[in-house]
Amino acid sequence: MSVIDATVLPGPEAPIDKGGPNQPLLIVKDLKKHFPVRGGILGRNKVMVQAVDGVSFSVRKGETLGIVGESGCGKSTTARLIVGLIEKDAGEIIYDGEGLGDVLSLRDLRRGVQMVFQDSYASLNPRLTIEDSIAFGASVQGLSDPLGRAHSLMARVGLDPARFAQRYPHEISGGQRQRINIARALAMSPRLVVLDEAVSALDKSVEAQVLNLLADLRAELGLTYIFISHDLNVVRYISDRVLVMYLGEVVEVAPVDAIWARQAHPYSGSLFSAMPSMDPDTRTKKPPLTGDPPNPINPPSGCRFHTRCRYAEAVCKTRVPALQPIAAAPDHLAACHLHDLSSGHEKAGKEGLL
Ligand code: SF4
Repeated sequence: MSVIDATVLPGPEAPIDKGGPNQPLLIVKDLKKHFPVRGGILGRNKVMVQAVDGVSFSVRKGETLGIVGESGCGKSTTARLIVGLIEKDAGEIIYDGEGLGDVLSLRDLRRGVQMVFQDSYASLNPRLTIEDSIAFGASVQGLSDPLGRAHSLMARVGLDPARFAQRYPHEISGGQRQRINIARALAMSPRLVVLDEAVSALDKSVEAQVLNLLADLRAELGLTYIFISHDLNVVRYISDRVLVMYLGEVVEVAPVDAIWARQAHPYSGSLFSAMPSMDPDTRTKKPPLTGDPPNPINPPSGCRFHTRCRYAEAVCKTRVPALQPIAAAPDHLAACHLHDLSSGHEKAGKEGLL
């Protein structure tokens, strides 16, 4: 294990833990973000896309929360709301016990919460050298010795400062660029790092190296991660808990082993059944997901999944299911009426759900 320069992390300028170890680092309550788009004939009407609609969850200190769901389910919008890149329409973001816009300023939130994006090249300024890219944020925030931080972090993410400090983003590989983006995020001494498809564009061998680097950094620096990915195997490898989103809502949250053993929401079941497996013994009885997600401009009433759910009953079309613990598993939550309906429960149980 490499040694980190004492001037870098979690140095005296790192944000102070204001709550006890049991207080979640991040709490999101009823978060909403609707984007206006042009609709109707000739695009004359303004309609709203309900990208994130009432999302609530918490992230414990030191854990990795994986967020999964189909493209367009709202996971990246949720990530951008959490780091303050876009403004919420409603809801609360509470970081380390302080509410954004209440006690917590956007500047303080951005010190504590950093983000790494999928596109490693677009994330970097092509006109800045690698060392300047890493040092820039720390310099703007007034942190001490930004260049010293940059060099220490380059070494920590596996890039020799003597070779890479003066290079430009187009002169290095995608894997090296993503290491630079991770170093750039860490230069701000964050406690929470949001990784939005951060390894998705990498070759499999490079992806494994970056995942191991992220796991090492989390252990060494006491970091907390939100890890967004469409790749369930990667999410399983790095996450402690998994949150499943569908059409702007949270439909299931559970410890990683629990949700891999048994999905409590039909959407999660279909999502997991689509995972490729070379092992014939692990082939699932659960039906694959069919059809496209409904239009987020006008989502279905009641349970938003009812138009694609093989277990849907009358109540599903009219009543919104609450996200609540399933029987005998207080930390496994699902938003599905099946858990209250014995007939559907029985049918789903036969197919390995619930
Ligand atoms: Fe399917 Fe009804 Fe559960 Fe929604 S609430 S997932 S429609 S069974």
